Amino acid sequence: MDKFKEECGIFGIFGHPEASTLTQLGLFALQHRGQEACGIVSSDGRDLHQFRSQGLVADVLGEEILRRLVGSAAIGHTRYSTTGRNTIKEVQPFSATCQHGDIAVCHNGNLPFAEARRRELELEGAIFSSTSDTETILHGIARTRADNAIDAIEKVLKETEGAYSLLFLTPEALVAVRDPRGFRPLVLGKQGESWCVASETCAFDLIDAEYVREVEPGEMLVIDENGIESRFPFEKKQHAVCTFEHVYFSRPDSTIFGRSVNESRHKMGKQLAVEHPVDADIIVPVPDSGVAAAIGYAAESGINFRQAIIRNHYVGRTFIEPSQSIRSFGVRLKLNPIKDLINGRRVVLVDDSIVRGTTSKKIVQMVREAGATEVHMRISCPPTAHSCYYGVDTPHRNDLIASRMTTDEVREYIGADSLGYLSLEGMLEAINIGSESSCTACWTGKYPTLIANGKAA
Ligand code: SF4
Repeated sequence: MDKFKEECGIFGIFGHPEASTLTQLGLFALQHRGQEACGIVSSDGRDLHQFRSQGLVADVLGEEILRRLVGSAAIGHTRYSTTGRNTIKEVQPFSATCQHGDIAVCHNGNLPFAEARRRELELEGAIFSSTSDTETILHGIARTRADNAIDAIEKVLKETEGAYSLLFLTPEALVAVRDPRGFRPLVLGKQGESWCVASETCAFDLIDAEYVREVEPGEMLVIDENGIESRFPFEKKQHAVCTFEHVYFSRPDSTIFGRSVNESRHKMGKQLAVEHPVDADIIVPVPDSGVAAAIGYAAESGINFRQAIIRNHYVGRTFIEPSQSIRSFGVRLKLNPIKDLINGRRVVLVDDSIVRGTTSKKIVQMVREAGATEVHMRISCPPTAHSCYYGVDTPHRNDLIASRMTTDEVREYIGADSLGYLSLEGMLEAINIGSESSCTACWTGKYPTLIANGKAA
């Protein structure tokens, strides 16, 4: 599907006899944040134990593996890659042994200056085992003089720019850190007497853990057998939480940045109906991410909601396009219309975003072929016209249709009768985080940081 892609999900737990099993479940709930590879590192209080593999959590983190991941603390990672190649060497958590002992790390985000730092380290003779930006953090810790691993982590991150929600595991402690701008989400929970951390609260629901609060931007939590300690060691920065998490990346059953994702999407849909009303017979979501906004649009407009496009959730990556030309191959693997509901009706399609426009074009065509008399496309965020540098896989700017075409040109390209995007103000009001605390760079081009070329792109 033609979407921005979140790169990673992270989960960690300290002080539970089944730490690796609960981490496997947490990662399973976070599978939507990365489907290429996953891994867990556990601690038995003396040593770290590691397993990493390409593949889905349910396929590769089986009983036999979990039995080997002994100990009462663990961190885990599920990955979609942009930084680094897709090989086993890139799969996190990474671990190393250095002057501060054994240490493992997993990361959700992006470090724009890591490549330059890596070149410097390589010239000094450093050996890397992956191409990932995250590994530069381990090198930094290994080279830092400090009394212990925790202080070394703190020192290195004080000099690290970028977007990061990070989990570290040493034999004695779990450390959770969110960068001072708070780009990517990280939440704190409690399972009985055990503390846990995760990218999203949906991971807590599965293991019966209670959501306690956000890990604050700029906060470093140190969890060990003495309990939990909160530090704010970094220079304060204007917060810039990723608005797109509420538009698309996060699961609707999660609470992130202190807000329900489902509620945000529902409100976006309602506001979309206020801003772009249309005479129609049915509101149809593009599944699954368009559902909550479509329900909101239907509620505000009074037009019937119909789940008239069905998604096949079991599509793998191994299909080969038939050599004969089958026009709808690709999108039809995933989506199929219910003709009875669509035939003869004026349809409003609600989706969360248009990236290249290629999938939207196929969906509009599919709905027309199912007999729709009119097809109106409504998008629950503004036109995405800029790339992301903060841990999200986005196409080059030139490939984003909204960066080259006006809204009417996009409408013509996708073949819709009308096209309406939610306004920036409408989106921010629906999410209600506060515009000054939100990153909106992929819509506005106003990047909250310098990016790798040293410019505020
Ligand atoms: Fe999120 Fe967009 Fe900002 Fe990237 S540029 S962090 S996707 S809001």
